[in-house]
Amino acid sequence: MPITEKPDSWRFEIDTPELGNEDAVTTALWEQEVLSRPGLGSAPDSARAEILYDGLLFRFASPLKIEAEARWADDSLCVTIAVKAFFTTQCSRCLEPTDIEILDDFMYLYSLRKKTAANRNATEETDDEYQVVPVASWKNRLDISDQVWESLILTLPTQVLCSRDCRGICPTCGKSLNSGECICSSETKDPRFEKLLAIQFDQDTE
Ligand SMILES: [Zn+2]
Ligand SMILES: [Zn+2]
Repeated sequence: MPITEKPDSWRFEIDTPELGNEDAVTTALWEQEVLSRPGLGSAPDSARAEILYDGLLFRFASPLKIEAEARWADDSLCVTIAVKAFFTTQCSRCLEPTDIEILDDFMYLYSLRKKTAANRNATEETDDEYQVVPVASWKNRLDISDQVWESLILTLPTQVLCSRDCRGICPTCGKSLNSGECICSSETKDPRFEKLLAIQFDQDTE
């Protein structure tokens, strides 16, 4: 079963920097194996899990690497979350297996302030550099698991191409056109069809 939401076993916590010390920085680094059947211990690549998101399947081809850094900004905690992973997925045009690397970072502002819904929305609209996350109280460690999951999902591409000039598949026979023309295209070169084809192309270009 592909993963569609944050796995229950995910627990990413970062030490809270010394309260009130704006120079204090805490960091955390994880290499998280994401397995299709957790609990089997070290497993070969084939046992790595896949994420189903926006109609695309992404199979982990590496552990998920997370780097986080926390520092105070006024009375809020500013946390940068960097995600990096390799996936095997499918080319959106030719459907062939395609390897991709994802790499991005996100900034979250954990804040005690009990903002009203209107205030929070205003903040998120006027400053899209970070997302505000309300926190009930400061503890020694801050749970950022939900934001790690969100960062990962936001980093996944909505379209993947095996190469920039992928020619896709023939809409008639389904053959990948990257490995050459299919039977359909030689049929359409039949002189009897050429006039018809010319008309269709004219329409396409308009
Ligand atoms: Zn392709
Ligand atoms: Zn064809």
